[in-house]
Amino acid sequence: MEKISIIIPIYNEEQNIEKLYVRSKQVVIQLPVEYEFVFVNDGSKDQSLEIIKNIASIDSHIKYLDFSRNFGHQIAVTAGIDNCSGSKIVIIDADLQDPPELIIQMYEKMQEGYEVVYAKRISRKGESVLKKITAKLFYRMLSSITSVEIPVDTGDFRMIDKKIIDVLKKMPEQHKFLRGQISWIGFRQTFIEYDRDERNGGTTGYTYKKMIRFALDGITSFSNLPLKFATVSGFIVSGIAFLIMLYALYSRFILKDFVPGWTSLILSVLFIGGVQLISIGIIGEYISRLSDNVRNRPLYIIKESNIK
Ligand code: UDP
Ligand code: MG
Repeated sequence: MEKISIIIPIYNEEQNIEKLYVRSKQVVIQLPVEYEFVFVNDGSKDQSLEIIKNIASIDSHIKYLDFSRNFGHQIAVTAGIDNCSGSKIVIIDADLQDPPELIIQMYEKMQEGYEVVYAKRISRKGESVLKKITAKLFYRMLSSITSVEIPVDTGDFRMIDKKIIDVLKKMPEQHKFLRGQISWIGFRQTFIEYDRDERNGGTTGYTYKKMIRFALDGITSFSNLPLKFATVSGFIVSGIAFLIMLYALYSRFILKDFVPGWTSLILSVLFIGGVQLISIGIIGEYISRLSDNVRNRPLYIIKESNIK
């Protein structure tokens, strides 16, 4: 019988783990498959690990990995993918925002011959207006600047086949944007739609800082357009500067009309300075990721696990 691995990244989810386990277990036992749960504890500071170990002691379907510190959501999912043994996997959040019941629908779609079934959010409950707006804008902006078709309004909640898993394991980049990587890999992909629930308990592990970093990871991994922006804005600014230069010479020598042009001077200095800083910043974003990849450190460090 084929086996499904359910990968669950955990960061301070003590209020949700048991409920998630009970609900997902009820779902997977309805399917004609073997299954395992792979909990990846990403440096939680609460009782999450103890709860996972408790469940693992009564249910042999429970596997866990415990990180030496917080490495971030995408890395936690990657560790689950590296260490699971299923021929299909499901990536799901621990906070019950992704309803486990959808796994049945995903499984049915997979039977039609798809390699990826992702879940597209038609609405999001219990999230701040700012988060909803920034997420909406981000996904649309990303899809407009990249040549890879990354579906909008879609998180990592999805079922994927072994063919995809094997390729993912060969993509060693340090800054993961899994939903983009999976789109990039291709094969037959489809989606189901759902209303995203509120977080069951606890608070989000995604601070704005983490979200911005994640967004920049997505952009830098899938588009070089920002680098071209640096070049193009350089040309535009030089072009304008050249016109102003001609005008300045004209008014100095032909019109003999030269005012002490402090305003134009300070404006152009500020403008050119701003463009230069932005361009250097963009280049910096790419170079910092380049250097992380060159250092080639392990993606994560496992402190403890019950996977042999
Ligand atoms: N998560 C993680 N490491 C982190 C932050 C989050 O493993 O540094 C996990 C978290 O436990 C949850 C999933 O990633 O299972 C999604 O995180 P969260 O619900 O906080 O994000 P949101 O839904 O608010 O975007
Ligand atoms: Mg959540």
